[in-house]
Amino acid sequence: MVSGHPHCCTRPLEKHTMSWETVIGLEIHTQLATRSKIFSGAPTRFGADPNTQACAIDLGLPGVLPVLNREAVRLALRFGRAIDAEIAERSVFARKNYFYPDLPKGYQISQYERPIVGRGRVEILLDDGAEKTIGVTRAHLEEDAGKSLHEDFHGLTGIDLNRAGTPLLEIVSEPDLRSPQEAVAYARKIHQIVRWIGISDGNMQEGSFRMDANVSVRPRGETRLGTRTEIKNINSFRFLERALVFEIERQIDVIEGGGRIVQETRLYDAERDETRSMRTKEEANDYRYFPDPDLLPLVIDGDFLAAATADLPELPDVRRARFERDHGLSPYDAGLLTASRELADYFEAVAARCGDAKLAANWINGELAAALNKAGLTIEASPLGSEGLAGLLARIADGTLSGKLAKQVFEAIWAGEGDADAVIEAKGLRQISDAGTIEPLIDAIIAANPTQVEQYRAGKEKLFGFFVGQVMKETQGKANPQQVNEILRRRLAP
Ligand code: ADP
Ligand code: MG
Repeated sequence: MVSGHPHCCTRPLEKHTMSWETVIGLEIHTQLATRSKIFSGAPTRFGADPNTQACAIDLGLPGVLPVLNREAVRLALRFGRAIDAEIAERSVFARKNYFYPDLPKGYQISQYERPIVGRGRVEILLDDGAEKTIGVTRAHLEEDAGKSLHEDFHGLTGIDLNRAGTPLLEIVSEPDLRSPQEAVAYARKIHQIVRWIGISDGNMQEGSFRMDANVSVRPRGETRLGTRTEIKNINSFRFLERALVFEIERQIDVIEGGGRIVQETRLYDAERDETRSMRTKEEANDYRYFPDPDLLPLVIDGDFLAAATADLPELPDVRRARFERDHGLSPYDAGLLTASRELADYFEAVAARCGDAKLAANWINGELAAALNKAGLTIEASPLGSEGLAGLLARIADGTLSGKLAKQVFEAIWAGEGDADAVIEAKGLRQISDAGTIEPLIDAIIAANPTQVEQYRAGKEKLFGFFVGQVMKETQGKANPQQVNEILRRRLAP
């Protein structure tokens, strides 16, 4: 959606934020946009019939061997570069052992001690307009698990292994986030980046972007971290915020009531708007990590890294700053217009064509964003292309349309009634900017309303609006408002 304003607020943290400080770190799993799995040639397409996209390797049959997907590596490197991270020349795949029905091998191939992407950072924008740097601890490659389906089978669980082996990049933040709002701003930022550089479709409904939130509280001034809980598998920014608000209040209540926080994994239940304990937290040693003997260490040579990152697009922060500088946009407008690369491209195309970047920004963030939202469309699917909008804005810029008429024309274009010029012609919506037409009209209105004229001249200035209204009524709203004001002032002067 276009109006991706970075600060979506559900309800403020009600409790004790004076005496308690919140600490949050996020682990984000983003599916990489490869056509085949990370260790097999099976397709990754979403929505296929259950178990039609899982091959012997994804099923973990004996005797098979994984082969690393080069494209998944390339995409991970692009992300590393985009967050200015250290990139490991040599990283290692490890087996993370656990038993679960949707993991038939009994282990997940992941990276543990030596991830491909090391320390990096992103900037987030806070509510007061300040920027804050959030550290990224690491980002590692791993395979996704299958899915357990509980809904369609009475008393049974279905297992769909289509997702097994889909490449994931797990992006782990430092515990640098200090409020649910900061956590949301950070998560949105990562979401923006992975889509921007084309490494993931970021589709949250389809599970391409899932978040685990680690959260603890501590008395203000305390430097040690409190005991944390981890809320698993959150798939929307709104739920992320709500789950954190609930969990922070719960933790404060427990501690203030004399209790202790247990390190555990919790689930957020959106229907009841609460988190519930799922299991006590595993420790790393529960997983018996060890290097996967089936896979060689991953060695990145300079040429491969250079080729993978050479064509990275101008990044969102850089582009936002350029929009402010070159087009004179406010940080707020520039931020909205760089929510996605498609939107930023759209804006630049409209601005170049109509010659007025500020006007383009206002219309895209205003009228167009509202219309897209209402129709549930993103900019890529906009019925109004950049040429169409630029055509409309050009008629505002050259005085053919007032802002108000332009909105009528916009609606007609949106409804498929043709381009701006065709609609203006067909509906006769051209603004009247011709003094030779407006002056006689105003004179007639003045002559017809002697009482109001007298009162106005005697100091009842509010009546000016009455005269403007009369002119607009006579012209069906088509008179140029600036001209009407100017001529009226002149004619009404005592
Ligand atoms: P694990 O190996 O159990 O997943 P990590 O140490 O890798 O744990 O941390 C996972 C996430 O939890 C990171 O994002 C980190 O910033 C965050 N985190 C760690 N300790 C705390 C804490 N006390 N409070 C809040 N977040 C924390
Ligand atoms: Mg973890």
